[in-house]
Amino acid sequence: MSVPYTAELDTALKAVRLASQVCRTVQSRITPDVLEKKDKSPVTVADFASQAVICRTLADAFPNDPIIAEEDSAELRTGEQSAFRDRIAADVHSVGLTGTSDDICDWIDRGRTTTFAPRFWTLDPIDGTKGFVRREQYAVALALIVNGQIEVGVLGCPNLPVTPGSETRGVLFAAVRGQGAFAIPLDGETTRTRLSVRRTNDPKDAVICESVESGHSDHDVSAQIARSLGVTAKSVRMDSQAKYAAVARGEADAYLRLPTRADYREKIWDHAAGVLVVEEAGGKVTDVAGNPLDWTHGQSLAVNRGVIVTHPALHAAVLKAVLDAGVR
Ligand code: AMP
Ligand code: MG
Repeated sequence: MSVPYTAELDTALKAVRLASQVCRTVQSRITPDVLEKKDKSPVTVADFASQAVICRTLADAFPNDPIIAEEDSAELRTGEQSAFRDRIAADVHSVGLTGTSDDICDWIDRGRTTTFAPRFWTLDPIDGTKGFVRREQYAVALALIVNGQIEVGVLGCPNLPVTPGSETRGVLFAAVRGQGAFAIPLDGETTRTRLSVRRTNDPKDAVICESVESGHSDHDVSAQIARSLGVTAKSVRMDSQAKYAAVARGEADAYLRLPTRADYREKIWDHAAGVLVVEEAGGKVTDVAGNPLDWTHGQSLAVNRGVIVTHPALHAAVLKAVLDAGVR
């Protein structure tokens, strides 16, 4: 019998690899001058180019699969954006995909699905845009959801050390439900290294990671939770789903995402790929109430709040600390 989702995994790896390459090229053009002007154009170019490359690659292999992605091309199609469209087209062409600016807008718009389907992909072309601009961590995140279950997840992390502590950067994280999670270098050898979460028995010894942005996850409450668990290590702040990767490969024990606003609902593309990678590495993911994440509500995790990601042996203690801190 063939191994389930082999074609989907291979296509997702190819798509995320190409998109990661585009993101690296665009990021290398960010000069201090661009940063100083708080010029958002590089991240916008990379966002659109990454989504175009991935949606086109998925369309070639699975033309009937809907894609719930973060971007759409409406603002790009206006007349005054033509220079911008040309820039995006050049970056898309640089990885060997050919098409006119109109074709590229059409590829981007394959990601415009917003509602649940029995089988769909979800994509964040650049997760952690703030990290991308700072030349720190960001991720290209792609997942396949079938009947409300994540079946395939691939995260491209161009700036993450290929193994913890390595000088070489650029790594893909991939998982298929029931088949484990793996790290694969973005460059050179495509050897697969099996991932597993680490087991830290005493919560005091845990390392917790969280967003850099206090608007995305409540830093004060997480400090309070860390104190109540007796955690001594300083929290590791990182942009994007690279936090899921850190837990999956045993560099950190937990990732906490604590709601900052009552009305915010997490977006599925900010989590789906990372969640499967952690689960297949043996980790446990719930929302802040301890409920499983529910992928059947379209773009948002409409019935969940926040996330708790950790080793199953640590999950109950972390959840209790989260609830005791009054997080809802
Ligand atoms: P991170 O890099 O972990 O800080 O997460 C980046 C993601 O946070 C972005 O892709 C946004 O979709 C998402 N985001 C935006 N506003 C909020 C918010 N108020 N709470 C949680 N996440 C948010
Ligand atoms: Mg995102």
